[in-house]
Amino acid sequence: MRTTGSLASLALALPALVSAAKDCKPYVDAEKLQDLINLDDLLAGSQKLQEFADAHGGHRAFGSGGHNATVDYLYDTLVATNYFDVVKQPFTEIYADGKATLAVDGQSVPAGIMTYTPGGSATGPVVLVPGLGCTPDSFPAEVEGKVAMVSRGECTFGEKSRSAKAAGAAALIIYNNVPGSLSGTLGEAFGDYAPVVGISAEDGQAIVAALEDGEVTVDLQIHATVEERVNFNVIAETKGGDHDNVLVLGGHSDSVTAGPGINDDGSGIIGVLNVALALTRFRVKNAVRFAFWGAEEFGLLGSYYYIKQVNQSDVELSKIRAYLNFDMIASPNYIYGIYDGDGDAFNLTGPPGSDVLERDFEDFFDSMNLPHVPTEFSGRSDYAAFIENGIPSGGLFTGAEQLKTPEEAALFGGDAGVAYDVNYHLIGDDINNLNHDAFYVNTLSIANSVAKYAISFDSLEPVDVAKRHAAAERARLFKRTGVSSHGHSHSHSGPCGGNDKR
Ligand SMILES: [Zn+2]
Repeated sequence: MRTTGSLASLALALPALVSAAKDCKPYVDAEKLQDLINLDDLLAGSQKLQEFADAHGGHRAFGSGGHNATVDYLYDTLVATNYFDVVKQPFTEIYADGKATLAVDGQSVPAGIMTYTPGGSATGPVVLVPGLGCTPDSFPAEVEGKVAMVSRGECTFGEKSRSAKAAGAAALIIYNNVPGSLSGTLGEAFGDYAPVVGISAEDGQAIVAALEDGEVTVDLQIHATVEERVNFNVIAETKGGDHDNVLVLGGHSDSVTAGPGINDDGSGIIGVLNVALALTRFRVKNAVRFAFWGAEEFGLLGSYYYIKQVNQSDVELSKIRAYLNFDMIASPNYIYGIYDGDGDAFNLTGPPGSDVLERDFEDFFDSMNLPHVPTEFSGRSDYAAFIENGIPSGGLFTGAEQLKTPEEAALFGGDAGVAYDVNYHLIGDDINNLNHDAFYVNTLSIANSVAKYAISFDSLEPVDVAKRHAAAERARLFKRTGVSSHGHSHSHSGPCGGNDKR
């Protein structure tokens, strides 16, 4: 550097130099970023989520106290670094949840909830509907004020429930027409429905048989909530770096109502948060955007909402060079699953560049001498919104409700024939449900990826909007035709009942 200028101008320049020196952090380096990750921090963050759930009815479902506490914790922690521009992005969705109990002649019978059913209670004789109850006039007149019962079939649960209400029934029981229990959805919120539950074909047939001999009395209690709730995505982008070439990564901040969701997806968001905090010690060349999605468990709502906002223009969308998803990274009976970006294992190829993201994750695990397997882009986590917009996507997944194969047990240890996460979507997904090795290693892998792409996207081809559109069309077609198989899917079944509408 040449020294020029007078003493006076040097003095004037001094404050600027000092502040520049303060900002002059080293560029991020993969090794150094990983060195800042430690298991104690990951567990301390997980413990916080557990406490949020404990203080709010045992879960962190979207829009609930436990979820709002999670959102505030993420937001406040990231704002305090002064390293990110942080946004709490509100969106409104319908929350539905419920529980039902049914007693038939004093004997308890399992009753499945129908999403969007109104709450209510009804006691008294059951009236069997002779047909399938698809119109109000198919209900007999004596159903007025009583509990109606009808077989599943022909029309939707919503139509049966609406007809029951119009016919004056106090409540409706739908019994299955194939073996097994019955739950589902009425299809839309705030319909003009009678309170409704589903029961198994076996229990239904027993009631039908008993009705031939005389009266059957039921006591049905449905506690249900259907309401609009405001919910938040938390989005934190590095103030530094090239904002026209952005890495986006994230996980979902909500749980199901059944439990605290410490693996699903507490592990993903705590891993991502810890990498974000470590990154604040460094400078980046490309901006990094950390995303904590709301309402994933209710149908990937937060990520779709976000993409819809961004998608006002191709320009904003094309600034996203890659998306990395981390939904369940510490399953107790884990595998090291890497999303199958190149499609060689599961036949759905991610948008161009997804193969590179997969290979980069594979290189990391290879460098650690750790095994890994491809895991399917089943469309059941927040990457779906990105894939459907042609954005190269990747990520890690340690497995949900599906069973570990003998081959996987040989590779990773753990128990063959046992679910990767036996507590998936259950009350047992708590602070004791984490595999610490997997949690730590996967968070190192997140750090490795963030450091790599924060410095360079050279391994990815330049953005080609036409190619992205073509990939988006392929992904949407794949979704519409429902080709998706059942690989290592992370199946989110919707609010309370199943997804079946009829
Ligand atoms: Zn999840």
